[in-house]
Amino acid sequence: MTSSDAVAPDATAEPNVIVITGGGRGIGAATARRLAADAVDTGTRIHLVVNYTSDERSAQAVVDEATSPDGLVTAGAVGADISAEADVTRLFAAADETGRLTGLVNNAGIVQPIGPFVDLDPARLERTWAVNITGAFLCAREAVRRMSTASGGAGGSIVNVSSRAASFGSPNEFIDYAASKGAVDTMTVGLAAEVAARGIRVNAVRPGLIDTDIHADAGYPDRVTALGGNVPMGRGGTAAEVANLIAWLLSDEASYVTGALMDIGGGR
Ligand code: NAP
Repeated sequence: MTSSDAVAPDATAEPNVIVITGGGRGIGAATARRLAADAVDTGTRIHLVVNYTSDERSAQAVVDEATSPDGLVTAGAVGADISAEADVTRLFAAADETGRLTGLVNNAGIVQPIGPFVDLDPARLERTWAVNITGAFLCAREAVRRMSTASGGAGGSIVNVSSRAASFGSPNEFIDYAASKGAVDTMTVGLAAEVAARGIRVNAVRPGLIDTDIHADAGYPDRVTALGGNVPMGRGGTAAEVANLIAWLLSDEASYVTGALMDIGGGR
């Protein structure tokens, strides 16, 4: 990675560690790229923990791309299923090995196949809640434990990746998914207030229709192409566009922003 505007780097400084759950693909991967580019531009030493659960190859590719030859940006891939507490503990323990945690991109999430509400079964519901709610809560908990100025942390920023679905409810598609993102929104507002005086900001981004692999998991791989025309801007968004907002919320430019649910949906 190179930048003509790069500030003289200090590769010996202790890095600010940022954990990105689900960082190997889609919005998480785009965020890793954006954060790495910003760090090079500003001469800031960071370490990116790129979490994945099944696709190690993609996560390692993101790590390789993000890592800068001057040592300013380092990165490592860590496999962990965020729905399992032991995995979350191991993920954050791995982060502890690399420096001081100052950022969490609480991004990993799933959808399951599109279908009618009347066909929902408990196993599906439990999996949706386990990853999208329990996983997000556990990761936020681990981040707060480390960042809180009340317990010796340096403060930090948590960005939860919610969805416009939380407002729309996703009728005829995946109401369970939409509801899980509603829980993420509620956690964002409550946790932001709880930890505001401990140096931690907590915000959510709520993307609309974004071009990633997640739609294939819903059984509708060309969903963005098919539905993009219904968006006021006439298209789906890109993962990089969402990453821009996440990076801003992580940065000091957003120093007075907390408890915000920020829509990024092309006008919808
Ligand atoms: P994606 O391309 O399918 O990526 C999902 C990522 O989450 C993958 O890296 C995956 O890991 C990871 N993941 C899934 N389950 C996990 C688990 N149990 N533990 C750890 N990691 C797990 O999807 P995306 O579109 O970038 O989605 C990212 C976030 O944006 C999700 O929370 C999603 O709900 C939200 N979102 C997306 C859209 C959209 O239209 N794309 C809209 C609104 C909100 P592997 O790579 O190892 O499989």
